[in-house]
Amino acid sequence: MARPSYFDIDLRALEHNVRLTKKRAANKKICAAVKGDAYGHGLIPCAEIIAPHVDSLAVAFCEEASALRQTGDLPRIVVLEGPFDLADARFIADNGLDSVVHSAYQVELLFSARLPARSTIWLKLDSGMHRLGLEDGEITAQLKRLESNNHSNIGLMSHLGDAESVDSAMTQAQLARWCAAVDKRSLPTSLLNSAAILHGYDTKSDWVRPGIMLYGAADLPTEHEDRLLPVMHFRSAVMALRWINESEVVGYGGRWQASKPTRVATVPVGYADGYPRTARNGTPVLIDGVECPLIGRVSMDMITVDVTALASVEVGSEVELWGSSLAVNTVAQHAGTIGYELLTRLPARCPRRWSR
Ligand SMILES: *Cc1c(COP(=O)(O)O)cnc(C)c1O
Repeated sequence: MARPSYFDIDLRALEHNVRLTKKRAANKKICAAVKGDAYGHGLIPCAEIIAPHVDSLAVAFCEEASALRQTGDLPRIVVLEGPFDLADARFIADNGLDSVVHSAYQVELLFSARLPARSTIWLKLDSGMHRLGLEDGEITAQLKRLESNNHSNIGLMSHLGDAESVDSAMTQAQLARWCAAVDKRSLPTSLLNSAAILHGYDTKSDWVRPGIMLYGAADLPTEHEDRLLPVMHFRSAVMALRWINESEVVGYGGRWQASKPTRVATVPVGYADGYPRTARNGTPVLIDGVECPLIGRVSMDMITVDVTALASVEVGSEVELWGSSLAVNTVAQHAGTIGYELLTRLPARCPRRWSR
């Protein structure tokens, strides 16, 4: 008998989300983020679903692009962090990939590697996140440098650091810098990520770069008929049940203490399966479709759940840790993190199953 813990990846939900993203993006071009192993959903199976619908796929660095080449018909591939060294630049050039350039040294690397004319260089503007990117003056300098090398396939891109908050001072400052940089040049532009797409930002962005929304884990309201569907379902089943008396404690450190007789269900998923150890008492766990509170510390291989209110529970009862009835972002919130992190750090030992 197999341990009943799995990540079920619903590729039909992924395709639904991609179509919805296309609809939302209207006539803009789409660069779909498949970095981080397609946000933990599996690079190759997801790229195969996404690729036919989009104009390019975005990975963070060259090794991720290399893994992608196993798939057949691919659109353009954009390397978001650009080359780290000459070997990277050669890989980008030899495979005709597109590259973001956040620093002047990367332009030199790409020239040394004889970047072909068909490869787009996306000059990244530091519009205020101050993590990566060129200042406006440096953009001008790099444009000259590219012109003198006859490389004309160039775009301008930037990234929003607080896109969920349309009116925040940070967003407003970033948009102002972005518009100023865009208005004085006539280059293809790329700015909007999932949150910005879902909020309907009205700013210049010929391309959009959705990531999390493709996987149905964008924590933003969408219209009812346009609901994004969660692609990942983290499932397990109850492995043991017991009653404990009032004042007994549960799990490592006895973090949780019963204030009345309590029925405890043990579920075979732990932090070594990608369930966050920081999840607090009260984090919702769905058992037979009913929300029950996590009690006690998350162990490496198991969690414990208060199922006193669930008379029908038995060994083998279905458990959802996150998925369609329990948003990964809800669990993340109880664990002091975000859905992105939970999705992208799944360990290999808990199997993923793809269905369509
Ligand atoms: C990851 C990433 C995206 C996608 O962001 P989401 O919030 O997942 O939509 C877009 N642009 C860049 C530069 C990224 O690194």
